[in-house]
Amino acid sequence: MKQIKHITEMKRSDLKRIKLVVFDVDGVLVKRGTKIKQKDGITTFETKKIAKSQIEQIKKLHAKGFHININSGRGLYMLQQMFREVLEYVSLTYENGSATWFKGRIVQHVNSAKFLKNVFPKLQQVKSKDIKGFEPKEFIITIHCKNRVKKIERIVDQEKDLYYVWNSEAYDIGIKKKQVKSIGLRKLMKMLKLKKKNVLVIGDNYNDADLLSVGGLAITADKSRVAGDFYIELKGKRLPADILMAKLLE
Ligand SMILES: [Mg+2]
Repeated sequence: MKQIKHITEMKRSDLKRIKLVVFDVDGVLVKRGTKIKQKDGITTFETKKIAKSQIEQIKKLHAKGFHININSGRGLYMLQQMFREVLEYVSLTYENGSATWFKGRIVQHVNSAKFLKNVFPKLQQVKSKDIKGFEPKEFIITIHCKNRVKKIERIVDQEKDLYYVWNSEAYDIGIKKKQVKSIGLRKLMKMLKLKKKNVLVIGDNYNDADLLSVGGLAITADKSRVAGDFYIELKGKRLPADILMAKLLE
């Protein structure tokens, strides 16, 4: 395995071709952990906001000519809430590469309707005290759970076109090799006419591995879960995105 260097070892020369900076959200721009509760048809869902200091950093990066992309498993409505103050400076690729919001327009990358229509009702019937709720999504299925639920995994395993990813708080379920973060990034690179060497990517989780492989420069915010060229440790008060943006702006 290739050696992963600490972010402090990143040099100006590593960054000279970078034009697009791609951020994962949870564990990178906000802390990990989603609070969701579902009971009797009522969904309670916590909205996180990015911090003022990150808003300022994103504005500065934009002013320096970087294109900034948020690439997340979350839904568009939620990302718009989280990034309301910087919407004019970023594009949003959401639901694991399913679509991209850019300057008020939506470009859909994947059509999952016929792949998910049969499995959805089966998953809704699973009874387990570990299931907290289904996160509202348009293109993928996300089920928040306290622990792994084998029944969910067995149902998805029976569908040859579908994957599940368990990230220790939820299952993401989507189409294998099609509904992945890297597809969204590849489409965005085409839209912006950029090459691999122009792209820096930061992520922290299992569903970011394919995303990080598309960037010319990959930063891992949790090297126990995903590899990269450089790493930022998760400990301490500062978020990985804060540390990275400070480095880019210096
Ligand atoms: Mg993450």
